[in-house]
Amino acid sequence: MAERGAYNCLFSRGEELLFASRKSGIAPLLDVIDSRIDVVGATAADKIVGKAAALLYVFMGVSRVEADVLSEAGEEVLRTYGIAYSAKVRTKRIVNRRGDDICPMERAVECVRSPKEAVTAVSAALRQIRRNMEVIKGKNFGFGLMRLPTIGEEIDYAQVKQMVDEFIGAGFSYFDTAKGYHGERSEAAFRECVAKRYPRDRFTITDKLSQNYFESEEDIRKCFEEQLETCGVEYFDYYFMHAQGRNNYPKYKRCRAYEIAKELKAEGKIRHIGFSFHDTADYLDMILREQPEVELVQIQLNYIDFEDPKIQSRRCLEVCRKHGKPVVVMEPVKGGRLVNLPKEAEKILSGLHGGSAASYAIRFAAGQEGVRMVLSGMSNLEQLRDNLSFMRDFRPLDEKERAAVEAAAESMRVQDVIPCTGCAYCVAGCPKRIPIPDLFADMNGREQWQDREEGKRRYEAHTRGKGRASDCIRCGKCEQICPQHLPVREFLQKTAKTFET
Ligand code: SF4
Ligand code: SF4
Repeated sequence: MAERGAYNCLFSRGEELLFASRKSGIAPLLDVIDSRIDVVGATAADKIVGKAAALLYVFMGVSRVEADVLSEAGEEVLRTYGIAYSAKVRTKRIVNRRGDDICPMERAVECVRSPKEAVTAVSAALRQIRRNMEVIKGKNFGFGLMRLPTIGEEIDYAQVKQMVDEFIGAGFSYFDTAKGYHGERSEAAFRECVAKRYPRDRFTITDKLSQNYFESEEDIRKCFEEQLETCGVEYFDYYFMHAQGRNNYPKYKRCRAYEIAKELKAEGKIRHIGFSFHDTADYLDMILREQPEVELVQIQLNYIDFEDPKIQSRRCLEVCRKHGKPVVVMEPVKGGRLVNLPKEAEKILSGLHGGSAASYAIRFAAGQEGVRMVLSGMSNLEQLRDNLSFMRDFRPLDEKERAAVEAAAESMRVQDVIPCTGCAYCVAGCPKRIPIPDLFADMNGREQWQDREEGKRRYEAHTRGKGRASDCIRCGKCEQICPQHLPVREFLQKTAKTFET
């Protein structure tokens, strides 16, 4: 009988100890195979044995496997190949560390039959996981510089600096910006509050190529150089093709945007190429097949969009996993909608007595398998401190919390709200200068304020000196750019009816 003691995996032949490892998972088995240690006829004692491990044991030629936990598929392999075995516990399947999905190694051998094939599949899967960890280093929580604090119309630099200091002080390093963010002032805010104040190895920065800043190859290079200068850096850690989908991907291809990004990477001005994405899972799959050199993908993922038939967060995540791309999550709180919850949803989550509404939304996103980074577009110190309080030592949602989040999502789905995230992508192109996201926020706020006059007051304040909902000339420009695919014109008609009559 092999005694594992403090080891996770151990090989012995009679009294002779051949190999022992404290590493977890499948890694010790690959170490034995890669080091060509002779374990033929040996007894292997292992913590968890699924199909992947069982096939590797067959490949190694061991004669007996003693498992703490043995899966049904693992048992079938051992039985088929005539290897003796014992197990303290039997389980239907081996799950990942979060316990919410199948173990990635088991997934890698799902369609594999032969032990030799299993070695190749498992080695490739493990290599991919390690590579993914390399693409994005550091902790899994990022600072989105999209909705910064303001004093009047100006960015409140003193507060942003304080936020940056507390963020970096807590051990985080990932920042996310784009040329159009915060009225085209986000990149400069990054330069002043981060790049000028911290050594380059203390932060990583993502910037993006947005479709409204180029019409040709020449424009792309020019825009990129300007972005480097505005951000005050010599290279971007990550450079994304912004908001990819069927409405703009052909333009990026036509202008050779992906090829230019590769050239810039070869020149050392970009460390990793990625894209952010707003479309269906099948379109994502198509882009990833066409652009295999892309190293990471940013998708919209939150508990209310997870199964949404338009946003398709879960399916998009699965596509990224299939292609082995680490995922960055945007909109984990859906532009604040999952922070200021309607009463019913708020009641469900506060019943857990475990944290803020934002904490459940962000932990939901960060806990998904394949998600390597979650962005939060924090707008003040209070939000930042709340986020740090649960992301400093991140813990995924447990079963009870997941059930509560699902119940909260369901209660919101049945309400009549406009699923606008407040990204403001639609605003710049509107010929009537209608502050679309503000007006939709007014519509969504009706239920919370329960005071018709308060809603009207807000509407009047938001439209002062700007376009009103009824000014819409139905040109449709906003709908072409809206990443949420909202029928903006239709919602504006409702808005006009609500606040202007
Ligand atoms: S459809 Fe209306 S809201 Fe949209 S861009 Fe045109 S005028 Fe503005
Ligand atoms: S309508 Fe669409 S583009 Fe405009 S702010 Fe809302 S989500 Fe963004």
